[in-house]
Amino acid sequence: MSSMTFEQLDLEPILVRALADMGYVKPTTIQSQVIPEAMSGRDIMASAPTGTGKTAAFLLPVCQHLLDFPRRNAGPARILILTPTRELAMQIGQDARAIVKGTHLKVEVIIGGVHASEHLPALTKTTDIVIATPGRLLQYIEEESFDSRDIEMLVLDEADRMLDMGFINEVDRIAAEARWRRQTMLFSATLEGRGLMRFAADLLKDPVEITAAPPRSERKKINQWIHLADDPEHKFALLTHILRQPDVSRSIVFVKTRERLEELASRLQQEGLDNAWLRGEMEQVRRVEALERFRIGRVNILVATDVASRGIDLPQVSHVINYDMPRTPDVYVHRIGRTGRAGNKGTAISLVEAHDMPLVLRTERYLDEALKRRVIDELRPQHKEARVVSRKKKDKDRKTAAPKPKEKLRKRATKDKGRPKWAGAAPPRVRPPKIDDDADE
Ligand code: AMP
Repeated sequence: MSSMTFEQLDLEPILVRALADMGYVKPTTIQSQVIPEAMSGRDIMASAPTGTGKTAAFLLPVCQHLLDFPRRNAGPARILILTPTRELAMQIGQDARAIVKGTHLKVEVIIGGVHASEHLPALTKTTDIVIATPGRLLQYIEEESFDSRDIEMLVLDEADRMLDMGFINEVDRIAAEARWRRQTMLFSATLEGRGLMRFAADLLKDPVEITAAPPRSERKKINQWIHLADDPEHKFALLTHILRQPDVSRSIVFVKTRERLEELASRLQQEGLDNAWLRGEMEQVRRVEALERFRIGRVNILVATDVASRGIDLPQVSHVINYDMPRTPDVYVHRIGRTGRAGNKGTAISLVEAHDMPLVLRTERYLDEALKRRVIDELRPQHKEARVVSRKKKDKDRKTAAPKPKEKLRKRATKDKGRPKWAGAAPPRVRPPKIDDDADE
């Protein structure tokens, strides 16, 4: 939080009142950085992960602009906000409606997966702010049912994610359609990568660059650790054990593919662990329904692919569990950002098999911190138990089934000089990482 107040940011009292109703008392760091620059008319390029308050950081200057320069005639949208996922679009729509509550401003959302009739107001009625996912919006632009000529401000939210999802051409074309705009703001979890920089250079004019990496103190609110799993069955046992802990009140379990999601969701169900699930290419009605069941607490477990890892605001998620490690560290950061929000404490647990260790290493390097290793007594990983506990038959059986360590891996491990000991560059069966010190259960 910054030391400023919303009044000091020269926002209209009607907006400040709406913010108070939303429980926003003071601007967050990113809000106090972005709002004055945006209100002075500058283009913005901001690195701001979700959870920092970035949504209001662009919505507030947008709304203030619309109030400062009221429209004279009926007409199409003056502000266009592009965002990668439907959930995020709906979330921003909700926030925008809450902010403009006391004003005459109209907000519409255009997303795929819903019937075109729901978009009629955005296409035919006077609208101020349109929040859209690129695919469906472009379709309307091509059919000439959406008019982008009145757009004065363009906001690209989660630009890195839009690029990752392959929306670059769509976004380029939409930006070209909105060429009469006077201001563009780009928000991205990170401002790294050539693709993103080129994209930003094309779309922004002399932008102010703002970095709102979450301060370390905020990051520390998320307690992170990993459990080593011997194999998929062991991993499943770890998961069900964790989900049954009393402090695990609301959790999101991330998996990497749709197939795995379905399998895991139904296995958890069989174990009596009621859950809702969320993945891409899902009918909109079912998505909303799943999110709602989780949001209102009908179920306390949400199994999701990465489509849910960004942008959606689900309050009070106590635990994020990586059942599958994410492909890249920035996805890890986004996933764990679902917990520990708005000052609450959060926990992120990753269940890793030997073959995930390179991803763990990369993540640790990216975070610049080691992830704690933890052990659950009754579910100790076999490779560790085999070293410290006398062998039980079960363990023996497992051990014989274990693949022989590959020479190649061993060689690589010895080459990994300089890496921290805990890094476990080789699969645990080959060289168990030192986890004893951190084991706390
Ligand atoms: P965002 O990064 O926009 O997804 O926001 C993260 C969370 O912080 C959401 O739950 C917002 O409702 C909340 N939030 C945003 N700005 C503020 C603020 N100034 N004060 C309190 N909560 C806020």
